[in-house]
Amino acid sequence: TTEATPAEDINPNDIFIAVKTTKKFHQSRLGLLLDTWISRNMQQTYVFTDGDDEELKKKLGSHVINTNCSAAHSRQALSCKMAVEYDKFIESGKKWFCHVDDDNYVNVQTLVKLLSRYPHTQDVYIGKPSLDRPIEATERLGDNKMRPVNFWFATGGAGFCISRGLALKMSPWASGGHFMNTAEKIRLPDDCTIGYIIESVLGVRLIRSNLFHSHLENLQQVSKSELHKQVTLSYGMFENKKNIINVKGAFSVEEDPSRFKSVHCLLYPDTPWCPLQASF
Ligand code: UDP
Ligand code: MN
Repeated sequence: TTEATPAEDINPNDIFIAVKTTKKFHQSRLGLLLDTWISRNMQQTYVFTDGDDEELKKKLGSHVINTNCSAAHSRQALSCKMAVEYDKFIESGKKWFCHVDDDNYVNVQTLVKLLSRYPHTQDVYIGKPSLDRPIEATERLGDNKMRPVNFWFATGGAGFCISRGLALKMSPWASGGHFMNTAEKIRLPDDCTIGYIIESVLGVRLIRSNLFHSHLENLQQVSKSELHKQVTLSYGMFENKKNIINVKGAFSVEEDPSRFKSVHCLLYPDTPWCPLQASF
């Protein structure tokens, strides 16, 4: 059956949700998340950015973290942010680390359900690959030696989660300044570095879940009737076209281009700004 017995009774507070953003997206992207899913999950959500913002600080307090990483879209800048996310998670003492981008909607109820199927003390890495085969990389070993490595990784843009048990084992390659050094060994983006540490270094396999969604897949294919079962959603561009989920909700595409407001009203119709639902 798909409804496996819970391995562990967890609640939203056992999860550390790291949202990666950048100062130029505070208004346009983060604002939408704060109005929708984050508003219901302030206790477990932490925003990682690269510039001070008094407005954001007023709303989130200690849950907005200025990483002081560069605001560039470079491999180094993004790895710098992931390193801070990892360190803050370890410090938090929570059972699960989940990373998402600022163009992801997170259904925390389904996330809790999914993670409760696994013990947080065991090695769990769960998400969705964006490629249909392992990535082929070259590991720099020092002394100018190189070695080909193949591994699967969960795409950061769909969100992924790591159990505390596994995160602790990653520490020699991920904590403090180590993550940046590890990233330099393979010279790939931050989400690939996570996959490299887990699959290549530690020999733990990625668990694939179809409940995570990035805009690198055709979001029109997410079934309307199963929308409420998904863990993450996204919006953006795919193959040079606008890519959004298909939901006939409270708001038109013009009013709600990401569709996140419509999704939020379907999941939480009692939200004050959602139109009143017909009742029988
Ligand atoms: N991002 C960032 N710094 C930048 C550009 C983007 O931290 O200079 C973050 C952004 O906020 C998002 C993620 O990186 O969480 C992915 O960015 P985007 O969706 O723009 O690009 P994609 O990789 O999905 O095409
Ligand atoms: Mn994106």
